[in-house]
Amino acid sequence: MAKEYETVIGLEVHVELASKTKIFCGCSTAFGGAPNTHTCPVCTGMPGSLPVLNKQVLEYAIAVGLATNCDITRYCKFDRKNYFYPDNPQNYQISQLYLPICRNGYVEIETENGKKQVGIHEIHMEEDAGKLIHDEWEDCSLVDYNRSGVPLIEIVSEPDMRCADEVIAYLEKLRLIIQYLGASDCKLNEGSMRADVNLSVREVGAKEFGTRTEMKNLNSFRAIARAIEGEKARQIEILEEGGKVIQETRRWDDAKEYSYAMRSKEDAQDYRYFPDPDLTPIVVSDEMIDEIKAKQPEFRSEKMERYKEQYGIPEYDIEIITGSKRMADLFEETTAICNQPKKVSNWLMVETQRLLKEESMDPEDIRFSPENLAKLIALTDSKAINSSVAKEVFEVMFHENIDPDAYVEEKGLKTVNDEGALRSTIEQVIADNPKSVEDYHNGKEKAIGFLVGQTMKAMKGKADPAMINTILKELL
Ligand code: ADP
Ligand code: MG
Ligand code: ZN
Repeated sequence: MAKEYETVIGLEVHVELASKTKIFCGCSTAFGGAPNTHTCPVCTGMPGSLPVLNKQVLEYAIAVGLATNCDITRYCKFDRKNYFYPDNPQNYQISQLYLPICRNGYVEIETENGKKQVGIHEIHMEEDAGKLIHDEWEDCSLVDYNRSGVPLIEIVSEPDMRCADEVIAYLEKLRLIIQYLGASDCKLNEGSMRADVNLSVREVGAKEFGTRTEMKNLNSFRAIARAIEGEKARQIEILEEGGKVIQETRRWDDAKEYSYAMRSKEDAQDYRYFPDPDLTPIVVSDEMIDEIKAKQPEFRSEKMERYKEQYGIPEYDIEIITGSKRMADLFEETTAICNQPKKVSNWLMVETQRLLKEESMDPEDIRFSPENLAKLIALTDSKAINSSVAKEVFEVMFHENIDPDAYVEEKGLKTVNDEGALRSTIEQVIADNPKSVEDYHNGKEKAIGFLVGQTMKAMKGKADPAMINTILKELL
C-alpha cells in the first residue's frame, strides 16, 4: 500500500525596513543610486569605524512584534555572525542570535482548511549585505555596497504550515500587517520581502519531523507555491526509493521548475557567533512600548468592521479594498473628499482591478492620487463627461496620474450639453437611417440602440446617452 506523506513547512522571512537611513550609520537606504555612493566607513567595514543603532529600526521591529503577538525582549543584544564573503565587508554580519528583539508570537491565517495560528519563533534585527555583480565582465566581479547596512528584520516561523496555501496565506498576512504599519513596502519582486522555505516530509502519523531542506531565491507567491510542490515531490521520491533527504540549502529555478543544491546547511556554531562588543545592549522601557502601542494603526479586521458601519459598501468590496494598504488609503482619502463611498469603491473594484491585472501590477504601486479620482467622480456626477469617456480618462489617469479636469479640457472631451446641436445631429441620423426608423416603428425596440450609437458616433462620444434617448424617442 502506498504510504501517505505530510509536508511540514517553516519560513524565514527577511523584510527590508523603510527607515530613511541604514541600521548602523547615516547613509541613505534609497534604492538605485550609482554604485557605492550610499556608503561610509561604517557600512564598508573600515577598521576603527563604529556602528550606532538607528532608533527607527528598533521601533519598527518592536511594532511588527507587537502586531504579531510577540513578547518583546526588554534586554536585547546584537551578535556577530562571522563568515567571509566579498559582499560582507566586515567579515561578519551584525545580527541577533541569543537575545532577539521579539519572541513567541503568532499570526492567524485563514485558508480553505479554516482558521489556524502560525507560530512565530522570533524576530531579529540585522544588516543586509552588499551586492556582487558577476555578469557584466569576464575577468572580475564587482561589488556595490549601497545595500550593505540596509536594515532588515528576519521573521522566523515555527514549522506550523502544511501546504502551499497556508504558506501564502501566512505571507500575505505578514505583508499586510507590515504594510499597514508602514514598516516596509514588502515587495517580493524587488526583494524588500524575501522568503526562505524550509520543508520536510514525513509519513502521516509520524511523531518526529523529517530532515528539511531550505529553498532560496523565491520572488513571487507563484514561485513559492511551485517550489513547495516541486520540493515535496523530490523528497517523497527519495524516501520512496529508500534514500535519505540531506539537510542543505537549495536554489529554486522557477523557469526549470527544479531546485539545485547550493551548499550543505551550516549550523549556528559554524558562524562562531559572539556578542558584538561595539554595540551596547538595548534596554526597552515600558514608555517606549506604550508609545509604540499608541501609534499602532488600525489593522485589517478593525478596518473591515468600520467600513461596514461607516460606508455601507458590500462586504466583497471591503475584502478587496482592505487587502491592500494603498487601496484602503485611496478609498478613505477619496471618500473624504467626495463623500461617495460606493462610487469610489466601484472605480477601485472594476476599472482599477482590470488595469492592475492587465499590467500585472501590485496594488501598492498604484500611482493616481485620491484628489484626481475625486475629480473624475465629480466630472461624471455633473454629467460633464459620460461614462465611456470617464473610463477613457481613468485609464490615462491610472497610468500617468493626470488631472482629469485639465485633461478633459485639453482634449475637448466634455459632453456637448447644447440641446440644439444634439437635436440637429439626431435629426440627421434619423434622416440617414430610414430602415432603422421603420424597424423601430414596427415594434423593434432594439433599433433605437443603433440610432443612439450612430448619434454618439456623430458626437464623437461626447454626449449624454440618456439625453440622446429622450430626444430620439420624442423625434420618432
Ligand atoms: P537553523 O537555526 O538551522 O536556521 P531553525 O531551527 O532556526 O534552524 O529553523 C529554521 C526554520 O526552519 C524555521 O522557520 C523552522 O520553522 C523551520 N524548520 C525547522 N525544522 C523543520 C523541519 N523539520 N521541517 C520543516 N521546517 C523546519
Ligand atoms: Mg535560522
Ligand atoms: Zn554608511
